[in-house]
Amino acid sequence: MADELDCLTCGVCCRTGKDGTILIPDEDLLRWRRIGRPDLAEAVQPGHFGLVAFATDEDGACVHLGTELSPHACQIYAIRGTTCREFERGSKQCLEFRREYGVDPAP
Ligand code: SF4
Ligand code: SF4
Repeated sequence: MADELDCLTCGVCCRTGKDGTILIPDEDLLRWRRIGRPDLAEAVQPGHFGLVAFATDEDGACVHLGTELSPHACQIYAIRGTTCREFERGSKQCLEFRREYGVDPAP
């Protein structure tokens, strides 16, 4: 099932419409500063649980979402956050997001 899902025609988990939900652990902030991308550590907003989260645009999408190739692609894919890397395509939450945002029809 997961193999059939195409993130590049979806992007919903990067576009939840809810501020402060895609959390960024401290190690990501340190990593970005260490590799010369302090701008990423600064493009954040307050998140849940006392952490920071990816800043979102007026549509609720992560500010790093969208490239010339696809509106659903990540601009910083190779160095994206831990939360992004750990989000599992085909997981219960992925499938819920897809249904909630109309990518898949409701059952
Ligand atoms: S919600 Fe699932 S299918 Fe959609 S982009 Fe995220 S991981 Fe990929
Ligand atoms: S950093 Fe990339 S993968 Fe993570 S939420 Fe933003 S657009 Fe999605």
